[in-house]
Amino acid sequence: MLQQRTLKTITRAVGVGLHSGQRVELTLRPAAPDTGIVFRRVDLPVPVDIPVRFDSVSDTRMASTISPGGDPGGPKVQTIEHLMSACCGLGLDNLYIDITADEVPILDGSSASFVFLLQSAGIQLQNAPKKFLRVKKAVEVREGEGARLMWARLEPFHGFKLSFQIEFNHPALDATGQQVVFDMGSGTYAREIARARTFGFTRDVEAMRSRGLTLGGSMDNAIVIDDYRVLNADGLRYDDEFAKHKILDAIGDLYVAGHTLLAAYSSFKGGHALNNKLLRQLLADAEAWELVSFPDTAEAPRGFAELAPAW
Ligand SMILES: [Zn+2]
Repeated sequence: MLQQRTLKTITRAVGVGLHSGQRVELTLRPAAPDTGIVFRRVDLPVPVDIPVRFDSVSDTRMASTISPGGDPGGPKVQTIEHLMSACCGLGLDNLYIDITADEVPILDGSSASFVFLLQSAGIQLQNAPKKFLRVKKAVEVREGEGARLMWARLEPFHGFKLSFQIEFNHPALDATGQQVVFDMGSGTYAREIARARTFGFTRDVEAMRSRGLTLGGSMDNAIVIDDYRVLNADGLRYDDEFAKHKILDAIGDLYVAGHTLLAAYSSFKGGHALNNKLLRQLLADAEAWELVSFPDTAEAPRGFAELAPAW
């Protein structure tokens, strides 16, 4: 049987929120089978649980934000996508995440620090079948036209592979790989995807800061680009770091389904909003998906039975 996974021990992280700039502590704790991933706002007078579900997503403008029942006025946790991406990359099903503010710390702007943290705590196999969300029918969402066109698509596939194409018409970004294809079954998430950092343009910084966004952003946790070039002294971590970060984000955005998808995902210029719209469209059609498990591990997609290798 392909089993569910949680952490072996409790682990902690401290950092600042990218948008809020607030100091925040995370405590990640093991959880029983079929719990899923549940954030707990422990800073509120009465702690509030926010389960990670597709319909808990309440804002997707700059990052993926969740609230109980998806209520935008409710208690929230912002910028969950990099931590969710790490959980998907390591196949973690069940986890409590106690958090002392309304935003997950940005750490180094990638999911590598979360992968390291989770792997250091150790991964525990649980005596319950791991469930996957199998896509049975292609679904697609599109927005805009011409130069503003963007789309995202899910198609049936025995495994989980992703393809992302960016197009920014910017000299620094155009000089890098514009399309990345990644197969989760390859077992190379930690090495090939997790280190890709988020990125931002200096021309947007002032406008975002005046709206109270990216207050915690710096060259320590993002690739910063002016009108011509990357400003970080050490340059890029991958030749195609921008497109790889979009793959990292998509993995996290789709993991709010509560299970790893068995699907081929592809997107042209999409983002958090389009990814959540795609997931909602998929889940609204009962014919388009089903939950499956693998009593016989040999029938699971290639690479899914192994724990992600240490790095
Ligand atoms: Zn991101």
